[in-house]
Amino acid sequence: MDKSEILNPNDRSVTLILSHRCNLNCSYCYQKHEKRDNSSMSLELAQELLKKEFAKVSPGGNLGIVLMGGEPLIDWSLFKSICEWIFSQEWPVSYRVVVSTNGTLITDEIKDWLRKHKDKIILGLSYDGNPNMQEANRHTGRFNIDLDFFLETWGRQGIKMTLSAETIGDLSNGLKYLHEECEMGRGYKSDIGMNENSISCNIAYGIDLGPKEYYLLKRELTKLIDYYLADGKDFTPATILNMDLSYCPPEVNPASISKYCGVGTAMSCYDTDGSYYPCQYFLPLTQPQENIERIKEFDFSGDVADPACKNCPIETLCPTCYGNNFARTGNPFVRDKSLCPFFKLIFFANCILQTRRLLKKETEKTNKEIYTLRVVEKIYPRLLNDIEAYEKMNPENI
Ligand code: SF4
Ligand code: SF4
Repeated sequence: MDKSEILNPNDRSVTLILSHRCNLNCSYCYQKHEKRDNSSMSLELAQELLKKEFAKVSPGGNLGIVLMGGEPLIDWSLFKSICEWIFSQEWPVSYRVVVSTNGTLITDEIKDWLRKHKDKIILGLSYDGNPNMQEANRHTGRFNIDLDFFLETWGRQGIKMTLSAETIGDLSNGLKYLHEECEMGRGYKSDIGMNENSISCNIAYGIDLGPKEYYLLKRELTKLIDYYLADGKDFTPATILNMDLSYCPPEVNPASISKYCGVGTAMSCYDTDGSYYPCQYFLPLTQPQENIERIKEFDFSGDVADPACKNCPIETLCPTCYGNNFARTGNPFVRDKSLCPFFKLIFFANCILQTRRLLKKETEKTNKEIYTLRVVEKIYPRLLNDIEAYEKMNPENI
């Protein structure tokens, strides 16, 4: 969950881990398969936890209820019982049930139920590009998933496409497939970020990437800039090329860094046995045992800035994950720097695409667009400098 998902300061989110089981074995999954067990959360425990979490939301706020696994639909009977109980109660504040699924377990019976309740529950489909990419990452083909059902039922929701080391070199093919064959992101929208029916595309956390993948990403981003700028290609770019650069203040050292997500403050996560964690990335299913014993050492409401990032031009928008940091560096607030060259390249590509798009624009620019150009003017040379230094140290050799 990123910062855009908790907009109102009164909003909170609770994640219930319904079970650890999953029917797939995705190459980039951060949950350790050897740690999976057959436990499930009971309906009674889910009820007790939800009552407690509703009571924490201030008037006017909203509770995001995230039902997760493993694959959350693997125990359909439990999933349905929890949802129907939620829907049957009077709650003091509004809520929405949010589920991220691999989409492979949705039978006709489940579709009927979901259509009936689509105003109270949103299913986000995780779908990794074209059929080859889906096969490489998740070992399941295009036709195990009824993509049309998701688009018809929650057309606004868009889909989530995750890149692994195996699929990064297929990025442009995957996005072209989703835009052109699956009608995703059709119609350019000038609002940056997740637009209706758009593609949320990011590199998986916790995987090992090196210069080979860096140069593949560079090649793919170059192709995509041309693709999105071509006449007649009227698509809203996937989020990897649609970042809101106005979040990067042009000053070299911004006064403060806000937390990237609500981990440990606006969010709670409960494992199948009811144990509390700051978010799902802090579960024993994901973290080494020695980290689990140290979670209490960290204050998620305090300063989350990493001093080593202080001079980075994209510090304010760099998509860090505190759970991944914890697993990779032993401290949630010490960022995993292995992805730095990749993030800088992505931001650099955003600068190029967004500037070209804005310079081509015939109508008057908004204040935000003018500010974005100002930001680009400041961060572009600094990013170029960092990129050149990385490439000098790691020459292309593929
Ligand atoms: S790109 Fe690297 S240095 Fe820059 S903010 Fe992100 S983690 Fe820090
Ligand atoms: S720490 Fe990572 S997984 Fe947890 S809420 Fe933040 S971004 Fe999401």
